[in-house]
Amino acid sequence: MSTHTIGDQQLQVIHAAFTGTLVQPEDPGFDDARAIWNGMVDKYPLLIARCADVDDVVTAVNFARENDLPVAIRGGGHNVAGSAICDDGLVIDLSEMTNVVVDTETRRASVQGGATIGDVDRATQRHGLATALGVVSETGIAGLTLNGGLGHLRRKYGLSLDNLTSVEIVTADGVVRTASDEENTDLFWAIRGGGGNFGVVTNFEYKLHEVGPDVNMLFTWYGGDDVEDALRAFREYTTAASRDGSVVAFYAFVPEDETFPEESWGDPAIAMIGCYDGPTDEAEAEFRELRTVAEPIADMSGPIEYTALQTLLDEDYPDGLRYYWKAVYVEELTDDIVDLVVRYGADSPSHLSTVDVWHLGGAIGDVEPDATAFWHRTNDYMLTFEANWEDPAVDDENVAWVRNGIEELREMLVTTGGYGNFPGFGEDPSQTLFGDNYNRLVDVKTVYDPENLFKLNTNIEPHEQ
Ligand code: FAD
Repeated sequence: MSTHTIGDQQLQVIHAAFTGTLVQPEDPGFDDARAIWNGMVDKYPLLIARCADVDDVVTAVNFARENDLPVAIRGGGHNVAGSAICDDGLVIDLSEMTNVVVDTETRRASVQGGATIGDVDRATQRHGLATALGVVSETGIAGLTLNGGLGHLRRKYGLSLDNLTSVEIVTADGVVRTASDEENTDLFWAIRGGGGNFGVVTNFEYKLHEVGPDVNMLFTWYGGDDVEDALRAFREYTTAASRDGSVVAFYAFVPEDETFPEESWGDPAIAMIGCYDGPTDEAEAEFRELRTVAEPIADMSGPIEYTALQTLLDEDYPDGLRYYWKAVYVEELTDDIVDLVVRYGADSPSHLSTVDVWHLGGAIGDVEPDATAFWHRTNDYMLTFEANWEDPAVDDENVAWVRNGIEELREMLVTTGGYGNFPGFGEDPSQTLFGDNYNRLVDVKTVYDPENLFKLNTNIEPHEQ
């Protein structure tokens, strides 16, 4: 039973001040407005405030605080935990705020908080520029950046949040603030890794780099007996890789797609996908060992437009499928870990699922763990279990497959750690994400959100007042 309500009088108040769209349960568009990417999540808010501008965000934040409503913040609606939506509360929805302004002089992009990666890439690539974002273009930049941001340029240019120069944020008191290295520096430190704990970010300003129009893609698949050799070749490659190259190796089942020979469809495989941002002859040398492990099932490597690389995986992650993803950081790819990847990959209950090994390091490790709130920078790899499936009847076994894999790894590594953008359902303690930065985050939270208005996230509880 709902413990919160919004009365007619309260509704009149918000209607009078709000210029965007307010969607209530009785409105025809309500089901579309509450739907998010992960089909596992089915929540019923009392009101969805689709903001048109920063003034609307201020109105919505004040309304939630004054009426003691649970608040969810929706950027791109792609976080696997489903925290973009809530039951019995207010959703502050930024999906109409997608504007991107590129300044070629200062090499900065000013991006509204509801933009997707695709919105940013399209605008910046018109000028031969890009910033470091993720690898699927439909993902929101807001959640991605506030929790980290790992993409094809990560080893060269770092996390998405390493490329932030300032943000505009509406804090719990309804005040619009700028946070940067010059203003509200504590807040700027905290939002770079602290997720949605500190307010609604209405604008992100990023550094831009010369990228494209073409970059060099690695996309090579090995099957059958070559799976373990391919993983070992990847491990070898990562020990001496250039930071112009960023590669992910993943265990998957060959899709029924004509890119692949029909006789390989459904077979277990290791694929390696990556990007080398530099001359093509250098890329060929860089990736040679990864492309010649054995006879590949398919090899799509070669020069490609950066925007094409950034959208290549989009269709693998349709809206409304069922998803549960979780990650752990790894210092070294030992034989035991290689075996675990192969074992869990092979045993996955769904052939749409993958076990991914992200090569990190490079520019990510140049930044000290306490220089921003993003703590986990010293490990060279991240292992992610991505359960992707269709049938609700097998929810439990898919979730268990991920949890067992993560648990086994954590026991093996005797380290914990997790990634806020692959948080399962957000069940791990917040310290798992924030490491030794946690206490400082609590201090900053207490300053800017003492009543914990923004708590539907990997929550940092403020000190008791
Ligand atoms: P939402 O679901 O909209 O929001 C998630 C949370 O972020 C909210 O609950 C809130 O706490 C916070 N938030 C959102 N918007 C704001 C805002 N404007 N102000 C303050 N807080 C806000 N991650 C990577 O690092 N690299 C990848 O390559 C990558 N690929 C992905 C591919 C797919 C298909 C998907 C679904 C996810 C991928 N991710 C990747 C994970 C992705 O970064 C997270 O899901 C991220 O949280 C998505 O951001 P969003 O704005 O869409 O999130």
